[in-house]
Amino acid sequence: MNIKNYINGEFVNPIKNQWIDNYNPSIGEVYGKIPNSSEEDVEKAYQAAKNAFPSWSKTTLNERSAILSKISFLIKDKLEFLAKAESKDNGKPLTLAKAVDIPRASSNFQFFANAITQFASEAHESVGLNAVNLTLRHPIGVVGCISPWNLPLYLFTWKIAPAIAAGNCVVAKPSEVTPMTAFLLGEICNEAGLPKGVLNIVHGLGSTTGQAIVSHPNIKAISFTGGTSTGARIARIAAPMFKKLSLELGGKNPNIIFADCDYDKMLETTVKSSFANQGQICLCGSRIFVEESIFDRFKVDFIKKVSNLKVGIPVDPETNVGALVSKSHLEKVNSYIAIAEAEGGEILFGGHEVNVEGGENGYYLQPTIIEVKSNKCKLNQEEIFGPVVTIMSFKNEEEALTLANDVPYGLSATLWTNDLNRTMTMTQEIQAGIVWVNTWLMRDLRTPFGGIKSSGVGREGGFEALRFFSEPKNICIEYK
Ligand code: NAD
Repeated sequence: MNIKNYINGEFVNPIKNQWIDNYNPSIGEVYGKIPNSSEEDVEKAYQAAKNAFPSWSKTTLNERSAILSKISFLIKDKLEFLAKAESKDNGKPLTLAKAVDIPRASSNFQFFANAITQFASEAHESVGLNAVNLTLRHPIGVVGCISPWNLPLYLFTWKIAPAIAAGNCVVAKPSEVTPMTAFLLGEICNEAGLPKGVLNIVHGLGSTTGQAIVSHPNIKAISFTGGTSTGARIARIAAPMFKKLSLELGGKNPNIIFADCDYDKMLETTVKSSFANQGQICLCGSRIFVEESIFDRFKVDFIKKVSNLKVGIPVDPETNVGALVSKSHLEKVNSYIAIAEAEGGEILFGGHEVNVEGGENGYYLQPTIIEVKSNKCKLNQEEIFGPVVTIMSFKNEEEALTLANDVPYGLSATLWTNDLNRTMTMTQEIQAGIVWVNTWLMRDLRTPFGGIKSSGVGREGGFEALRFFSEPKNICIEYK
């Protein structure tokens, strides 16, 4: 099936007629083509967005909210269909796409449908000076949204929903590796009555289509989620044009386990935080640090639980670990397993590709646990973004903190303890944008989401996203 660009409410071929193969990673076969859009396609999308902006930015909040709610409803209504498309395109278990990806895409629209009706401007009365200041928040204009392949529709909509809720028009690009559900979203937007040109979706490679969006002089803000090196490249292009930038980048998140935790809950959750979505979630706890006194017990129990995970084809309801997203990504993850051996790491479980029935040419890898001796090794310092975790023991809080913070990244962290004082001191010292205590991936969409250090700049979620997608203007009025 050939995917098309969605520009001005219509599905169109790329102007230069250049196409990229789209793979089904669970069988390692091409199942369609997607446009490799050029600067001309991006320009066409920009023009459509620009033309739609005067009218869209003046729609009442109730009208905008109603359309966003309708999109949310339609995504929920088509859950089964969208989940199948997502799972086929990405390799993730169908059960996961049904339980997480598609419901969250629907929630993103519903959340911002509600949030925009509660987003208040501020007023500051300059007491004694007979003046009042109003802070108005106007939409920026045409904005760019670029998203990765790991949670395709989930992260695509996480950007688009607040952008259009705030009154902007959008030129968006999903990952070329997983374009399908973004393509299907176009039809849903038409069905929901989103005016033509408010959302435009151009498909293609990062180096061509993505770069054209980032370099476009009149696309004034870029919301990007993806790798740290891509983020740095985007920042280099966007900074001299003074674009507003939100960068959600990579992570190398610590999962810190103290002996006083609720052990069973910790074990259950640690299996998920290590291997959910084949470990391809920026929030996965890829570095596990365990207090010395329970280290041996943890190793035995963790290996036992992980060995029960079923690696299988995504459509099988029993599958826990599906296919990795692409051959090149599988090769990248494999290269880290090879490095582990060279660095003296001990593979406690996994480490091999899996020949899966019904998916013989697919990209399957065992969930892999590697014991490392030092946090300085490559495996602990670089983002692998696959079903590979490392484990190490620590002696006390101080050592745990040093290990947790000694990485270039600072996206999220998980802490397992029942000690209140330790919780309070450690959560304040851990260098991360999000710290979960005795849970993982629990999300309240009102909270700020994002990282520090090489994990990015800016925050998404709640009013933070609406602030990003609007420009504040101060009006100062003096009266007699
Ligand atoms: P990537 O950086 O390769 O690509 C992300 C997107 O950027 C894709 O749409 C790609 O086409 C586009 N792109 C690539 N080069 C570009 C360029 N020069 N200009 C403009 N656009 C360009 O990342 P990926 O491999 O798709 O995703 C995996 C990465 O995303 C991991 O590092 C992961 O940690 C990160 N991620 C971060 C978060 C977060 O919220 N912090 C969430 C999910 C994934």
